[in-house]
Amino acid sequence: MNILVINCGSSSLKFQVIDAETEKLLAKGLCERIGMDGASITYENKVSNSGKEVNETPMPDHKKAVSLVLEALTNEKTGVIGSLDEIGAVGHRIVHGGEKFTSSVIITDDVIEAIKEVSDLAPLHNPANLIGIDACKALMPGTPMVAVFDTAFHQTMPEKAYMYAVPLSYYKDYKVRRYGFHGTSHSYVSKKAAEIAGKPYESLKTIVCHLGNGASVSAVCGGKCVDTSMGLTPLEGLIMGTRSGDLDPAIVEFIAGKEGKTAAEVVSVLNKKSGVFALSNELSSDFRDLEKGCNNGDHYAQLAVDAFAYRVAKYIGAYTAAMNGVDVIAFTAGIGENSPFVREKVLGYLGYLGIKLDKEENEKRADVLRISTKDSAVAVYSIATNEELAIARETYALTK
Ligand code: AMP
Repeated sequence: MNILVINCGSSSLKFQVIDAETEKLLAKGLCERIGMDGASITYENKVSNSGKEVNETPMPDHKKAVSLVLEALTNEKTGVIGSLDEIGAVGHRIVHGGEKFTSSVIITDDVIEAIKEVSDLAPLHNPANLIGIDACKALMPGTPMVAVFDTAFHQTMPEKAYMYAVPLSYYKDYKVRRYGFHGTSHSYVSKKAAEIAGKPYESLKTIVCHLGNGASVSAVCGGKCVDTSMGLTPLEGLIMGTRSGDLDPAIVEFIAGKEGKTAAEVVSVLNKKSGVFALSNELSSDFRDLEKGCNNGDHYAQLAVDAFAYRVAKYIGAYTAAMNGVDVIAFTAGIGENSPFVREKVLGYLGYLGIKLDKEENEKRADVLRISTKDSAVAVYSIATNEELAIARETYALTK
């Protein structure tokens, strides 16, 4: 059964078609600048491996984008399926499921309503995700659809981990609490780590470091998430590409007063103009540029990378305490999978846990790497995340 995986943003739509039985990727692509000038669709047939095709074409809305995706998938020359009947189900990535969704669900009218209800918790993301659902519903009316939530995996966190120490009415009235994000990745990578370690998932204490442009750490104890670094929104926790991560909340009012900004404007700076981008004196939010800067002796690039790695190490220390130990640490996402430099810096703080880095393995690139030595007290891996495959698996499990 083929699954179409859709990840819809406000002006973009990423898609993949995966054969759920063989888990083979058949096609993937991206629609960009939806609703703007210069919209384009990038499409790759992964069966023929004929490379990327990019077509600039008007896309006034997401429905048009989905129709172009379906056309590309069924196209006589470049398509990977004969007709739309060959798509058994559609899996949608939904950013925020609030407290309503603790696992993936088949999309019904009630589910759509419930996703709308929690949209004020993710005003930039959930409405865009819903537009993707609407567009698919209109063009593929009989095909079952599944919602896979970024927050669901973290719903097992205990109260003591998810409650903020603020008036209880904020939680009771507005659902202000920690939710966590990147759940599909944390779930996929923690399971994969147990598989590689050859130990039962239920018996392991695992820390997953999802280090991408957005970054978060999670503590997974016995197969259940017990803590994670992102909060009500993805702003909390690690230093990220352009997000500040943890800070004293009083800074918001202080800067608003100094610069005549509203709270919303300051929070926008904390989301879009902070993180390693700010610390590197606006050199870049991309670690490839920052590593070059470090090698050239740029002080601020070094500061940005040092502060980033230090924060990750502090979270690993905190989560080791939270679980009273750690068996496995897994690095994943753009930086976690591709930066031996950052991994070495983070692990440099963790000698006290008996972690020993295998420097030679750490320099390699592969979907799965064990970067700790055989006699290391904790097994440390680099594992390529695959959120789309995780969404396809969830979708298949609910619709087969
Ligand atoms: P993601 O959000 O998971 O796609 O990760 C994107 C980030 O990964 C980029 O902003 C880069 O900072 C980082 N990245 C990707 N490739 C490399 C690389 N070869 N070396 C260091 N960082 C990388």
